[in-house]
Amino acid sequence: MSNKPNFAKMKRNPLKDKYDMMALRYSGEVENKCNVYTCRSCRHKVKTVDENTGVTPMFIRCDRCNDLMNSAMYNDTMPGERPTKGWYRPSYTEFHGLSASEQDHVLKGGLLLRDIKFV
Ligand SMILES: [Zn+2]
Repeated sequence: MSNKPNFAKMKRNPLKDKYDMMALRYSGEVENKCNVYTCRSCRHKVKTVDENTGVTPMFIRCDRCNDLMNSAMYNDTMPGERPTKGWYRPSYTEFHGLSASEQDHVLKGGLLLRDIKFV
């Protein structure tokens, strides 16, 4: 049996390493906190929930009028309502397909937003 190192196995993937380091750093228990974003122009509100631990932005784009929506800073101003969007960490496969600026956001612990589909 050979004791030569297996170089194929040792091949480094720097982007994967960075992703894994970030995922480890944010592997704490998820609190599933809710937040509300309110549009500056049309006052449309969106309730979000954290599906993973990580960083979420102060502003998102309104999908009705495209203006900015302000974060309520995790003050749940819609307590009786279900969140319709979730903040999540993309898998490495999804991450790999993102633009450079989106990858940069995710590597800093940033989460992405998706619609929550209730079955
Ligand atoms: Zn709006």
